[in-house]
Amino acid sequence: MTVEPRHVTPSDATAPMIDPFGRAVTYLRVSVTDRCDFRCTYCMSEHMTFLPKPEILTLEELDQLCSAFIAKGVRKLRLTGGEPLVRRDVMTLIRNLGRHLDTGALDELTLTTNGSQLAKYADDLYAAGIRRINVSLDTLDDKNFARITRWGRLNQVLDGIKAATRAGLKVKINTVALKGENEDEIPSLIEWAHGEGHDLTLIETMPMGDIDGDRTDQYLPLSRVRETLEARWTLSDLPDRTGGPARYVRIKETGGKLGLITPLTHNFCESCNRVRLTCTGQLFMCLGQNDDADLRAALRNDPSGALLNDAIDEAIGRKPKGHDFVIDRDHAKPAVARHMSLTGG
Ligand code: SAM
Ligand code: SF4
Repeated sequence: MTVEPRHVTPSDATAPMIDPFGRAVTYLRVSVTDRCDFRCTYCMSEHMTFLPKPEILTLEELDQLCSAFIAKGVRKLRLTGGEPLVRRDVMTLIRNLGRHLDTGALDELTLTTNGSQLAKYADDLYAAGIRRINVSLDTLDDKNFARITRWGRLNQVLDGIKAATRAGLKVKINTVALKGENEDEIPSLIEWAHGEGHDLTLIETMPMGDIDGDRTDQYLPLSRVRETLEARWTLSDLPDRTGGPARYVRIKETGGKLGLITPLTHNFCESCNRVRLTCTGQLFMCLGQNDDADLRAALRNDPSGALLNDAIDEAIGRKPKGHDFVIDRDHAKPAVARHMSLTGG
């Protein structure tokens, strides 16, 4: 049987997004706000200047953009931030996006959150079709939590995680590995998470945006963490791949799964399936590069959506092969100037 080549016009709203390296873009991460109720030391400076309101996409515009990507083949959508659950009326957006789960256009709608508002929203999230969420938690020590997040309270997050579990949401814990700050606690955090039935993923710090301190002081290579863990437990590599920088292992003694995100290595770029949208409508084709596309202008200037489709196709055509992250003493400046809270990680 011969298959006719599909004719793709530049503004074909359903043309799949294939980048110049043959990678299909099927995963969109959307930062719905740059604001946050915490000030984690590795993510933000204490006195952040946030974006002026008119620059921020409305909830309707965010929905339009997400829906355009879904029409073009995105199967997984992650909402993040800043803290997604502090955006006013965010549940309206989440509920509306849930329609794409009902039609089968989307496989998964999910969320990365600091957990502070989960007690309030867990049931609504489940009702909207969300089944799994990532909750960031770097320590189980009250004082350390207050120090790392600056403005957060540990109990509020733990209550949020309990509420999420009760609501039926599968919770994965994300922990940034921080030299001298939570390094010694990593095994107990893993034991706790696995004991509660949560997988846990460790993340290396990434050089994004100016913070108040020096990132080289915080950087803890996960290769070192893995050695420590291997002295204590039996780790076996799992074949799971998500198209992202995570590698997974099973810990025999706890029975749980551990993810290791090492964004400074390049070994995941060849399978990269994702792009990132900010709350101002900038599309970043790579977390570790500065190149972006202005989808807000395309969206606001042409209600027909044709300009937007062209802008998306053009941007995907510029998706780079890989990132240029480096953290060392010779690179005192962040590799990318924007903060993680703008693109959401
Ligand atoms: N506020 C939500 C949260 O904390 O989960 C969502 C946004 S936050 C930017 C997403 C993830 O990025 C969190 O797990 C956070 O720990 C991580 N993160 C923030 N800045 C980072 C950095 N410079 N390097 C590595 N991970 C970072
Ligand atoms: Fe806020 Fe998340 Fe950044 Fe912490 S990591 S300051 S919770 S956006």
